Amino acid sequence: MGFTLREVSRSSSGITRRKGQSGRAVVVECAICGAKVPRDKAVEKRRRSLRLDRNLRELLREKGAKLHGVSRILYYCISCAKHRKYI
Ligand SMILES: [Zn+2]
Repeated sequence: MGFTLREVSRSSSGITRRKGQSGRAVVVECAICGAKVPRDKAVEKRRRSLRLDRNLRELLREKGAKLHGVSRILYYCISCAKHRKYI
């Protein structure tokens, strides 16, 4: 098996920054402090926001309904992500 563990865990922090492409990186805003960070440097978190009551949601799940939440992607700057222990 040519599967090495080292190659998988290369970006354990969730940050994938390639220096060659950093010049034209898309800038995103940190969800907490509003700092402008390049997207490849920011820490990405997917949040599912479903505006439903919790009881209603469980009732729907019991009936077999599939719930599609709107998945938002939030970006955090390095310091906020570290502070919240996302990395
Ligand atoms: Zn921040």
